[in-house]
Amino acid sequence: MRAVAVVGASLAGLETARALRDQGFEGRLTVVGDEARPPYDRPPLSKEYLLGKVGAADIALLDADDEARLEIDWRLGVRAVGLDRTRRAVALSDGTEVAADAVVAATGAAPRRLPGSAGMAGVHVLRSLADADALRADLTAGAPAVAVIGGSFIGAEIASACSALGLETTVVEALGTPLEPVLGPQVAGACAGLHADNGVRLLCGVPVRGLRGRERVTGVELADGTVVQADVVVMGIGARPNTDWLRGSGLELDDGVVCDTGLLTAAGGVAAVGDVARLRGADGASARAEHWTSATEQPVVAAANLLAGRTVREYRRTPYFWSDQYGMRLQFAGEVRPGDEVRIVEGSFAERSFAAVYERGGEPTAAAAVNRPRTFTRLRRGIGRAAAPV
Ligand SMILES: Cc1cc2nc3c(=O)[nH]c(=O)nc-3n(C[C@H](O)[C@H](O)[C@H](O)COP(=O)(O)OP(=O)(O)OC[C@H]3O[C@@H](n4cnc5c(N)ncnc54)[C@H](O)[C@@H]3O)c2cc1C
Repeated sequence: MRAVAVVGASLAGLETARALRDQGFEGRLTVVGDEARPPYDRPPLSKEYLLGKVGAADIALLDADDEARLEIDWRLGVRAVGLDRTRRAVALSDGTEVAADAVVAATGAAPRRLPGSAGMAGVHVLRSLADADALRADLTAGAPAVAVIGGSFIGAEIASACSALGLETTVVEALGTPLEPVLGPQVAGACAGLHADNGVRLLCGVPVRGLRGRERVTGVELADGTVVQADVVVMGIGARPNTDWLRGSGLELDDGVVCDTGLLTAAGGVAAVGDVARLRGADGASARAEHWTSATEQPVVAAANLLAGRTVREYRRTPYFWSDQYGMRLQFAGEVRPGDEVRIVEGSFAERSFAAVYERGGEPTAAAAVNRPRTFTRLRRGIGRAAAPV
């Protein structure tokens, strides 16, 4: 193989470049990214970066040694707009194209927005460094009241940062308890309690009807008529995989780029990694993860399979993520289904410090912990194939 084009210059794209070089690929390696800056780490954006504790230089994913070793032909600030899969040619927004022997889709996901929210001052999403700069500028101008729409991980982390900045903060969540489908009712309930513990108001069970305000937002209106007054509104309502550039390419798209458990798509020489990849197993079940760890692990497998020309390795790791909120570290691995039993192994929900295992038919399927990293690591090792992603 003489040339590989990676589309998406972030965590999964960079890890793919690293894995290809580590596995002996010496050909031309082009990485295309629509953000003008070199790859950076996203988790700090809703944590230390939003609080001003670290700057852009601290979250860079590349250093000078890496740059020299990887010998990447960077195409930053340009968007991929199409893929000719037979020629494996990626069309770019500047009218040029990159032709290669293999193409890797690493285009991640984009935040969902409420309809009608575009262009309204004071309304934010948080995915990129530019988003984080814009949000921080609004949060630190005076003492705005903040409404966070969506109480899942990013929403909860933003609320936690707002509380640390001393801002009056309300989280609005459509579910009865935030994160209940992901964490199960008990653990989700314990995490929801962190908001009240830290002076953040949590309104659950009522969907948002719309935003109030004309040029600048003044509040959030809920379906029951309640209005949450806010000078700044942050939408944390999930993300949609960036697959628009692949429309018409013939690749199968289904809430992500469909690939096998080796990260290869049905089109030879095209792989998908990270948040955009939907892995489908032989039994037809499929899964897509939006976790930092998956985006770093999958590229090693994808690179091996691209270099082999077929799937010789499978990615079968138990999903894992962490979240930092209100000075606590939540860790979770596995997959919860309704009816799974939760057993506390250490600590208690009331202390907001615990390690718990989820069981189905006596088999461990998931583990969760708040501020118990050592026990969590042990429990995580015990989770078997029942919790594998596909
Ligand atoms: C604020 C925030 C906090 C997070 N915190 C955690 C955490 O605590 N724990 C955890 O496990 N995970 C966390 N995550 C998730 C984790 O960061 C992601 O899983 C990871 O970034 C995925 O990497 P990726 O490379 O697949 O996608 P991305 O990081 O989204 O990168 C995709 C890149 O492709 C670019 N792109 C998109 N379309 C095109 C195109 N057509 N042409 C060229 N370029 C394109 C995008 O602009 C982007 O630069 C967090 C995410 C965010 C946003």
